[in-house]
Amino acid sequence: MEQLSGRHRAQLEEILAQREKALREDIHREIIQQEDFAQVAGESPDPGDLSFADLSVDLGNASVTRDLHELRAVEHARQRLRSGRYGECASCGYPIPFERLLVMPTSERCARCQQNFEHTYQGGKRGATM
Ligand SMILES: [Zn+2]
Repeated sequence: MEQLSGRHRAQLEEILAQREKALREDIHREIIQQEDFAQVAGESPDPGDLSFADLSVDLGNASVTRDLHELRAVEHARQRLRSGRYGECASCGYPIPFERLLVMPTSERCARCQQNFEHTYQGGKRGATM
């Protein structure tokens, strides 16, 4: 398996940047519809403001909560890009295939480790070949 090429890396970086922008706009729009927010923040939030993402998810809006979770995943992926660890499986350390990252740019594991990870939590019945 190969490490990400510079071109592929740049492509994923762009996808993540776009996704982050779209999520911030969505959250911004959803939040300003909530009257309570004026009391929490005092003024309308700037979608480009990082501290905006640190807002409590206790806003009681499922759609905002979901968007905030995804935004955090996107931010983590961009941090990994900056630190040079992006595209590296968090479990086995091998490179995650570009095709997988293209479909799911926030992936932290390769497909095999992700499966094992999920099996572990579901008590999956592997090892029948032993
Ligand atoms: Zn792995």
